[in-house]
Amino acid sequence: MVEVQSKMTERLFSFEYSAPKTDETLGKLKAVHARLQPLQPHFYTVTYGAGGSTKEGTRRTVLDLAAAGNQMAPHLSFGGDRVEVIDELLETYEAAGVQRLVALRGDRPSGIVSGSGMGHANELVTYIREKTGSHFHIDVAAYPEIHPESDSVESEIRYFKVKVEAGANSAITQYFYNADAYFRFRDLCLKSGIEIPIVPGIMPITNYQGLIRFSNLCGAEMPRWLERNLQTVQHDPDSFKAFGAEVLTSMCQRLLDYDTPGLCFYTLNH
Ligand code: FAD
Repeated sequence: MVEVQSKMTERLFSFEYSAPKTDETLGKLKAVHARLQPLQPHFYTVTYGAGGSTKEGTRRTVLDLAAAGNQMAPHLSFGGDRVEVIDELLETYEAAGVQRLVALRGDRPSGIVSGSGMGHANELVTYIREKTGSHFHIDVAAYPEIHPESDSVESEIRYFKVKVEAGANSAITQYFYNADAYFRFRDLCLKSGIEIPIVPGIMPITNYQGLIRFSNLCGAEMPRWLERNLQTVQHDPDSFKAFGAEVLTSMCQRLLDYDTPGLCFYTLNH
């Protein structure tokens, strides 16, 4: 593994919340937040639906939690929106004291045509820098197991580097259950001159069917040994939860043992 110790700064821990769609789910999220807050993560990210379904939920969650003194990092993507929508969000977040953003292309619901003229996340990063200078710390997405649309590892790294050169400060990865994929990706990035912190995204193992379905969609690999073990305990909630927690605890420990710059936990609002 390439030596990264010298680049290490403070490790950052964060929680990702899924943007709520209704008042009821916003209330549920706030109850979960009250339980997670004592763990004192450095910041909280909130997902954003490029298709429009959760945009208002993202904004409300971010503004409410920021007003309560939490460090927030809203996800932002362009989807089919015109730039005015992005401008308005940037102004609102800046005025609310938000200092971080996660800039994404977003998943593309079929039929959505970009109203902003942007095609990839690097263009959004460039746009945010043009509009707001260095105000925001910008995170972008990274894919240790390669984004499903990528032709090759080389193009994955090349386009990731374009996002970094556009002004991204750090990255959060798609989830994975094979730490070696992360280490290999990190090494390749370093060899390509990408030196920003790449923080692993950690997906809790809580629901067998949902996890298999989602992993197939987003290109996260479920190792055979893990899938088979989960299959065995899927109908025993306590054993399932205990096994999932054990697998992830040991993976997180291994990541931290090898100088990972932090961890971002996808809470799924649980
Ligand atoms: P991009 O960086 O644009 O990359 C997408 C694909 O295009 C890749 O294959 C890449 O190699 C290629 N590419 C990149 N730049 C170029 C270029 N200039 N020219 C040609 N090809 C290029 N989705 C949501 O809808 N809402 C969310 O809140 C959300 N949060 C996420 C958080 C994290 C940490 C991660 C990892 C993903 C998240 N996603 C979210 C999913 C994400 O939006 C999808 O994976 C999406 O398909 C790609 O987004 P991106 O920002 O990585 O896109």
